[in-house]
Amino acid sequence: MHLERTKYFITALLFVLIFPGMLHSQEIRSRYATITYTDMATLRKFNNKLYMGRLKYLLHSKKSETIEDEVGSKIDLIVEKVETVLDMYPASLRFSIVIHPSTKGIQEDFQRLYKKKVNYIAFYSPGKNTVFYSANNAKLRVVAHEIGHVVAENYFAISPPPKIHEVLAQYAETHVSD
Ligand SMILES: [Zn+2]
Repeated sequence: MHLERTKYFITALLFVLIFPGMLHSQEIRSRYATITYTDMATLRKFNNKLYMGRLKYLLHSKKSETIEDEVGSKIDLIVEKVETVLDMYPASLRFSIVIHPSTKGIQEDFQRLYKKKVNYIAFYSPGKNTVFYSANNAKLRVVAHEIGHVVAENYFAISPPPKIHEVLAQYAETHVSD
């Protein structure tokens, strides 16, 4: 690589490392998940829609907490609750979450990954180990259902058949607020 270009590349790389928040999509790293979202309005909407019900009392929230921290804590708490419900604890669980403003982004991502048109409001891609959520459909049951898929996929050495995957996710969805 030409020296000037190398310099330019290093400057650009440093910029990305120092100012990740200035890039197009933003990122939160919680204990279990790397969460990316389009913008702050999308994250705020997701957070407001994600009413935790009885799980709320298990959130150790401080007054100074940012929306980013709150979303991260909610996701981590749902992961642990789903693991308890399924009695399945994958070793060193890590996965990704993408939050779109609406279902349009969900359907575009599904089409891009699987070349198929669907009307899903959320889905999990085992191949990418990534959950795709739409901020306006961020209900606890929806979030828990997809995390049920994450836990099932990461627990077994060989992926369970699609029907069993779905049964486990539905069980997580039904019992998350028990
Ligand atoms: Zn499902």
